[in-house]
Amino acid sequence: MIRTILGDVEVLDGPILGHEHLQIDLSHNKGEDNILWQNEESAIIDDLNYTKVQYGLRVVADLSVPGGGRNPEALARISHQTGLHVVCATGFYWDAVPDIVVHSSHQKLRDIMIREIETGIDQTDLRCGTIKIGTDHTEPNSIFEKLFRAAAAASRATGVSIVTHTTKPEQATWQLDVLEDAGADLSHVLISHLHKVKDFSEIIAVGKRGAFIGIDQLGFKKGPMIGDVADIVVRAIAQGLGGQLILSSDIARKSRLRANGGIGYATTFSEFLPLLKQRGVPEPQISKIMSDNPLKIYSVRTDGK
Ligand SMILES: [Zn+2]
Repeated sequence: MIRTILGDVEVLDGPILGHEHLQIDLSHNKGEDNILWQNEESAIIDDLNYTKVQYGLRVVADLSVPGGGRNPEALARISHQTGLHVVCATGFYWDAVPDIVVHSSHQKLRDIMIREIETGIDQTDLRCGTIKIGTDHTEPNSIFEKLFRAAAAASRATGVSIVTHTTKPEQATWQLDVLEDAGADLSHVLISHLHKVKDFSEIIAVGKRGAFIGIDQLGFKKGPMIGDVADIVVRAIAQGLGGQLILSSDIARKSRLRANGGIGYATTFSEFLPLLKQRGVPEPQISKIMSDNPLKIYSVRTDGK
C-alpha cells in the first residue's frame, strides 16, 4: 500500500518516478528558475499527462519539504487532474535548516512528522507517504543528527520510508550510520544523488547496507554525463544491485518543463532508459527497476515496523 496525497492505494504495476518535484521553491538559494508554483501548475499537468500517455507513468513522488516549497493542496489538485498517484513528503529542508528544527527537541520533530503521516498536514486530511531529510555542504552537526534520529523514529512508528538528499555522495556513510544507530530499517531508506560518486565503490558500499541507491538527476546539465550515469547503472546491475536502484529526473526548474522547451517528466523514459537498452539491459529488467523498486520504497510497511 502506498500513502498518496489523495489516500491509500494499492498500486499493482506500472512505472513510478521516485524522485521528482511537482511543486518546489528553492529560489531563495538557487535562483528564479528553481520555482514550480501556481503559475506552472497547468504546464506541469500537461507535462505529466504526456508522460502518462507515452510511457504509462502511474505514480510520482514529490520530494519537496517544508522550507523548500512543498505545496500539498497543489499536489492534490495535480493528482486529481492527471489521475496519477502522488506521494507527498514530510520532513524538513536542509539548506538552510528551518528554525523549528534548530529549536525543537528530537521528540517534537518526530511527532510533527508522525502527525503529517497519520493525521494530515496542518488542518487538512492530506497525508504524507514518506520522510525527506538531507545534509547540506558542511560537515553534519548535532542539529542534522537530531533531525535524522527524529526521522528514524517517525519511520519506525509509521512504516513509511526515509529518503535523504546528499549534497556530496560521500555523506551517505554518515547518513546510514546515524539512521541505523537510531533504529531505522536501512532496506526502507533511499539515498539520493549517488550518480555523482567519484568512485564506484561508494555505490557498492550503500548497496551492501541494503539501502536504495538514487540515480535521480537524469537530464541535469551539471554533473556527470548521462552516458556515464548509464554505465554506472549497468555496473550496479552487474554487481547484483539492480533491485535497489531508483531512476528519476529530479525536475525542479521551470526551464525543464515541456512548455518551456524542456523534456520534462518524460526525461527518464525518453533520454535514459534507451541508453540502458543499448547497453544490453533486458526490457523486463528495466521495467522491474522502474516499477518494483520504487514501489518497495514507497510502500508503507505494516509488519510492526
Ligand atoms: Zn530533489
